[in-house]
Amino acid sequence: MSQKVRVRFAPSPTGPLHIGGIRTALFNYLFAKKHNGDFILRIEDTDQNRYVPGAEQYIIESLEWCGLTFDEGPGKDKGFGPYRQSERKELYKDYAEALIKSGHAYYAFDTTEELDNHRKDHEAKGKTFIYNWHNRLKLKNSLTLSAKETEEKINSGEDYIIRFLVPQDEKLQLHDIIRGDMEIDSNILDDKVLFKSDGMPTYHLANIVDDHLMQITHVIRGEEWLPSLALHHLLYKSFGWEIPQFAHLPLILKPVGKGKLSKRDGEKLGFPVFPLSWETSQGYRESGYFPEAVVNFLALLGWNPGTEQELFALKDLIAVFSLDRVQKGGARFDPEKTKWYNHQYLQKKSERELATLYQPELLQKDIPTSITTLDHIEKVVSLVKERADFVSDFWSLSDYFFEAPRNFDAKAVRKQWKEDTPAIMKDLVTVLDGISEYTSGHIEKLVKQWISDKELSFGKVMPPLRLVIVGAMKGPHIFDILELIGKEESITRIKTALTEFIDN
Ligand code: GLU
Repeated sequence: MSQKVRVRFAPSPTGPLHIGGIRTALFNYLFAKKHNGDFILRIEDTDQNRYVPGAEQYIIESLEWCGLTFDEGPGKDKGFGPYRQSERKELYKDYAEALIKSGHAYYAFDTTEELDNHRKDHEAKGKTFIYNWHNRLKLKNSLTLSAKETEEKINSGEDYIIRFLVPQDEKLQLHDIIRGDMEIDSNILDDKVLFKSDGMPTYHLANIVDDHLMQITHVIRGEEWLPSLALHHLLYKSFGWEIPQFAHLPLILKPVGKGKLSKRDGEKLGFPVFPLSWETSQGYRESGYFPEAVVNFLALLGWNPGTEQELFALKDLIAVFSLDRVQKGGARFDPEKTKWYNHQYLQKKSERELATLYQPELLQKDIPTSITTLDHIEKVVSLVKERADFVSDFWSLSDYFFEAPRNFDAKAVRKQWKEDTPAIMKDLVTVLDGISEYTSGHIEKLVKQWISDKELSFGKVMPPLRLVIVGAMKGPHIFDILELIGKEESITRIKTALTEFIDN
C-alpha cells in the first residue's frame, strides 16, 4: 500500500459500547498497526436525540482498558480534528449545498404529517412508500417547485431538509474486502436525508465528509452498515472523491447460534456483553476478566489465523492479522470459551501479580496480618492458581490457608472419621510437634516414616488429616498446605477436630 493506511472507529455515543463495538475497534486497530497506519477515534454525535451523557467517556475508557490506544481522536488532534462531529457541525452544510449545486441533492419541504399520510395511502393500497424516483416528482421539494418558490420558502424560515438525489437505472458495482463484488440496482435506493431541519447533518453525510477530510483509506465496520454501502458509494462519486476500501465485519451471534448477540442474552445466561459496567449491567472488567483475554477472544470472533493457535497477545495479533481471514458469516459467541481464555491468561501472570490482585480481598477480612503479606499470598497462589479462572475464585480455593475451616464436609466426616482416627490424630500431633524443620518435604518424610514404623495405612492417616486441615477432601498436596499454615496452626486444627468429632 503506497498511501498511508488510516482507519477510524466511529461510534455514536448513544450508550455503552457492546463488545461487538470493541471487536470493530480491535480489527481497525490491528489493521492500522499491521500496516504502520493510524487508528482514529471519531465520535459520531450528530443525532442529538440519542446522545447519552457519559457514553463518550465510556468508549474511551473501554478502548484504553483493552490497550487499543488511538493515534488521533478527542484530545489528540493531529491536524484532522475536531474529532467530535458536533464540533464540526458548521462544515457539513456547505457540502450538502455543494451537492445541490451539482444536481446531486435537493431541498425537501414535506412535513412529517404529509409524509405519514403518503405512507398510509400507500399502505392502504398494499404498497410501500419510498421517497425516490417513484415519488419525488409528486412531492414538495426543489425539484417540483420553481427556484423562486424554493428560495422564498427557505428565506421565510420554513423547515427544510436536504435529500440525496439517487440516480435512476444505474447498476452500482460495489466491492467489499470481505464480501467481494456486489451489484446493486440504484432504483431500490431511497433519497436519504443528508441534512436535517435542526441544522445537523445525518450520519450518512457527516460520515462520508469526515472520512474524506480525515483521509480514511479503509472503512472497517459492522455488517449492519452494509445496506448503506451503495449510498455511500454514490455520495463519494457525487463529490468526485476517491472511494476508500470497505470491509464489513460479520455479526457476533447469540450462544445458540441464531440472531445477533444482545444485552438480553447476557442477562439471561449470566455473562457480560459490555467491556465495562454500565448502570446495572456488569462489564468484563468488573467481572474479573483480564483485558488480554477479552482482546484475544474478540479477535477470534470472525477472524482466524489459519492455524490451530488460540492464544495471541495484542502484538502477536498485529503481526498475523489480515482482513482476508475475516469470515463473511456470523461468529457464534461462546461464554464458556471466554472463561477458558481468562484461565489461560491467569496462568501466565506472575504469582506476585496475582498476589497483589488478591491481597485487597484478604485485607478486608479478619486475618492475621502476618499471613496477608505478598510473600505469603504468593505461596498460596502458587498452589491454587491452576484451578482458578478468575482472581475472585482464589478465596474459595484457598480460604483454609488463611483461617481454620468452620464447616466440615459431613459426608467426608462420616466416611473418613473412624473409631481409631482420634488416637491416630493424637499421635500425629506428637509427630508434627517434634518436627523442627517444618517444610513440606521434611514433614512428608517424617510423617511417612511414622506411618511405616507404626504399620499404619496411608488411608487411615491422610484423608482424615486433609479433612481436619481443609474441611473437605479438596486442595493441593497436603504437606504443602501444612508448611504454609505452619506447625502451630496444623496442631491447633487437629486438636479442634478431635474435640469437634469426639462423638463420631
Ligand atoms: N456511527 C456509526 C456507528 O455507530 C459508524 C458506522 C461506520 O463506521 O460507518 O456504528
